Amino acid sequence: MKNEQENQHYQALDRQSIWHPYTRFSALKDGPLPIITHGEGVYLYDAEGRKYLDAISSWWACNLGHGHPAIIDAIITQTRELQHSILGNLSHPRAIELASMIVGLFPDDRRVMFASDGSCAVEAALKIALQYWYNMGQIHKAKFIALDFAYHGDTLGAVSVGYLESFHKPFKSSLFPVFQAPSPCCGTCAFHAPEQSCVRECIDTMRTIIREHAHEVAAVIIEPMCQGSGGMRIHTAEYLKSLADLCRREGVLLIADEIAVGMGRTGKMFAFEHAGIVPDIVCMGKSLSAGYLPISAAVVRDSIYETFRDQPEDHTFYHGHTFAGNPIAAAAAVATLRVFENEGIVAQSEALGKILAAELSRLADLPGVRNVRSLGLIGVVELEEDKAGSGTRRAIQVRDRLRANGILLRPLGPVIYVMPPLVTPEPALRYLVQALGKVIRESKA
Ligand code: PMP
Repeated sequence: MKNEQENQHYQALDRQSIWHPYTRFSALKDGPLPIITHGEGVYLYDAEGRKYLDAISSWWACNLGHGHPAIIDAIITQTRELQHSILGNLSHPRAIELASMIVGLFPDDRRVMFASDGSCAVEAALKIALQYWYNMGQIHKAKFIALDFAYHGDTLGAVSVGYLESFHKPFKSSLFPVFQAPSPCCGTCAFHAPEQSCVRECIDTMRTIIREHAHEVAAVIIEPMCQGSGGMRIHTAEYLKSLADLCRREGVLLIADEIAVGMGRTGKMFAFEHAGIVPDIVCMGKSLSAGYLPISAAVVRDSIYETFRDQPEDHTFYHGHTFAGNPIAAAAAVATLRVFENEGIVAQSEALGKILAAELSRLADLPGVRNVRSLGLIGVVELEEDKAGSGTRRAIQVRDRLRANGILLRPLGPVIYVMPPLVTPEPALRYLVQALGKVIRESKA
């Protein structure tokens, strides 16, 4: 009874006070939102005691699931010692430990510029690329190349390089212009090339853009191997390798946005490892702290950092967020990276990814399914869409039925995807895909 009263109290206050991100007004009319009160392992629990499998790792951040004791302990210990201190002309142990652990993940020498959210890490990366060319005396190299269907965050710079019509149309006039290259997603690309016989038209177009504009381009930005919010569009390692080679040859920086696909999500620590490349600037966020506290980073090649000296001229990077490298968030991230190492999380993700791919392949022939694809622990079922949006409506039915059955996910239009924690028990993973198949079968266009 107490629980029910408490739940209603929160739901009433919620309706009056919270502006819910990425949530339509009309969704709120469907009834009160579940009030999530605690999490344990791969499950979230609401105030009424309902249990949900967190099939999207809470916006792709909680790769270790909820309530990991080592991370909680690290947060508590750090909270007692030092809650906040800045990194401007000062330093602190957790940021130092974290930066050196991050640098240790790379084969070359690196510097870590901390930020708080993913979007802030992307902004930092873009500005570092711009100022790098400025420092080098090449001020005309001040534009960016991005992919169609890219997403890099919701701040205006990030939106400029990651413009999605369905999210960002009202802001179009305030964005800076960007060269757009076609999205290389196999099976659903703009060239309608069947995967087995395509001749990689996507990289040809990218090559033309880079060659024509290298003199005025600072960097190419890409979500390596999978464009997330733009529809879980997976591309080949070959594409990424060709892109990295092109950038190196033509003198253009490569920024890898690993905010969603890093931290083991694709079966490697970083998605760019699939292509055997090392990008110039790498953005990390989300699961860097296992999603427990906001912390992100732009990880920059040392040779870029070296151009920011202040002698003989001042090339200091005048950029920094108040909470960049916050000690409590950094402690959570240090503990997260230790868990990754001690518990073999990346290998576990790779193994589970194979199971996910096998389970998903059984859904490929269901009526109304356009394409099934996966990469590590990203699994996608894309429904057929028409002008009337029947695929999107069907995906919403699937989402609602799954929620009623204790599984949380959020389709992107007609693209239904799962990104469960990397520690999901195998039976729960199989159950998730089987439940998904069942509700897709039962759904109507
Ligand atoms: N880049 C990518 C690839 C993302 O998926 C996201 C968030 N979904 C961001 C950047 C932005 O991160 P944040 O929401 O933490 O600002």
